[in-house]
Amino acid sequence: MFTIAGTVERKLWSEKFMEWFHKVLREAEIYEMRYPVKGCYIWMPYGMKLRNNIISLIKKLLDETGHQEVLFPTFIPEEFIRKESEHIAKFEDEIFWVVKGGKRELETRLALRPTSETAIMPIFKLWIRAHTDLPLKIYQVVSIFRCETKATHPMIRVREVTTFKEAHTAHATFEEAAKQVEEAISIYRKFFDTLAIPYVISRRPEWDKFPGAVYTIAFDTVLPDGKVLQIGTAHNLGQNFSRAFEVTYLRPDGKHEYVYTTSYGISERVVAAVIAIHGDDRGLVLPPTVAPIQVVIVPIYYKGQEEYVISHCRKVAEYLRSRGFTVALDDRTDKTPGWKFYYWEMRGIPLRLEVGPRDIENKVVTVVRRDTLERRTIAQDMLDVELRKLLNEVYENLKQRAWSWFNEHYHTASNIEEASEKMKLGGIVEVPWCGSEECGLAIEDTLNARVLGEPVDEYRKLRGKLKCINCGKESDKVLRIAKTY
Ligand code: ZN
Repeated sequence: MFTIAGTVERKLWSEKFMEWFHKVLREAEIYEMRYPVKGCYIWMPYGMKLRNNIISLIKKLLDETGHQEVLFPTFIPEEFIRKESEHIAKFEDEIFWVVKGGKRELETRLALRPTSETAIMPIFKLWIRAHTDLPLKIYQVVSIFRCETKATHPMIRVREVTTFKEAHTAHATFEEAAKQVEEAISIYRKFFDTLAIPYVISRRPEWDKFPGAVYTIAFDTVLPDGKVLQIGTAHNLGQNFSRAFEVTYLRPDGKHEYVYTTSYGISERVVAAVIAIHGDDRGLVLPPTVAPIQVVIVPIYYKGQEEYVISHCRKVAEYLRSRGFTVALDDRTDKTPGWKFYYWEMRGIPLRLEVGPRDIENKVVTVVRRDTLERRTIAQDMLDVELRKLLNEVYENLKQRAWSWFNEHYHTASNIEEASEKMKLGGIVEVPWCGSEECGLAIEDTLNARVLGEPVDEYRKLRGKLKCINCGKESDKVLRIAKTY
């Protein structure tokens, strides 16, 4: 069976991952995948709750750092989207166009936003007058549309990205924009840490940066099949967009200057990573920090004791809710406890309480952890303290488990043959690189892999004088490479 613990043969889990992922999305009622438009899916009620908790978390982090939420239209006029040449060159093949309104051709073709830089810049031009209007920091959570030509995967490669959180900022200097990118990185670190998702942070190579950016910083994680998933990006756009859209501000010395902008985003890929990285062969295993339900109570009784046990469970549920836990009481009388265990395990609820007549007599409850399936008995009057402690232990264990698996899938190699062998193990391979685009592209080509870029985090492993694995030139630079989604 599939498990992230790494106890299973690698070959098997590689092949089975997508199958497992689909099964969990379906059985845990996260995602409806039968909508008849390629790359479009439906968030089901339970999935929506999980998604909303994850969105709330990122919103909170943005609000705390002075970002303000806005909502821009989905349509972008063709003239706007064509203004920044690199941008349109990259997105041209992926844009969905609206060309008709009713029976009439539209005078201006409208793009369904593939991202919002070109919608936001003309409005920044109206909003920004003087240096006192800067910095300006906004964000929105919206759908974006990309006509993906590659195979689509639920939540991972979709045509309507329904959960695109994009932030856009404007600043007086390049340094301030660079500092803003640093702030974005620190926000995303907190965000992924709270979700117990491991990651590396890399500066994307010149040939793979965001179209129109000066540079792009990206967060990548490894899924259980060994393939790498990009889960967040931050771009320093310099003055590229402000020049194209003529967004200037009045400096204190009376001169006009173009503003410097940044943008950074995450999407439902984060939800996919939470599901894929923590899950096991029984289904979801959710971090208590974003689980829609933290504690589920399952009453255990023989015929005739229903009312006695269920009414006691109701009191326990009420008590826990009053103490700030999110609780579900499964009081369905037409389902067996075994059926309920399976049901809630599939949905990844961190803690399950089992309460029977003997527990009530002894003033205890039985608690089962979803992550380890460990069971223990807790005195009723210690419930609040003990459950809080346990939720924290579940979170810490998920984080530790995910990082240790991630560490096992982060390799180094000093020549092409070794890199090629390490690639087969799945995950990320760090290799010496002279810094030239030519060698970077040759490495991608030879290994049939993607360059993630140069490390900008403390996770880098190779140090000192190294030799480029393509040309042999001495260098202190390294590249991360991987098979990617
Ligand atoms: Zn080289």
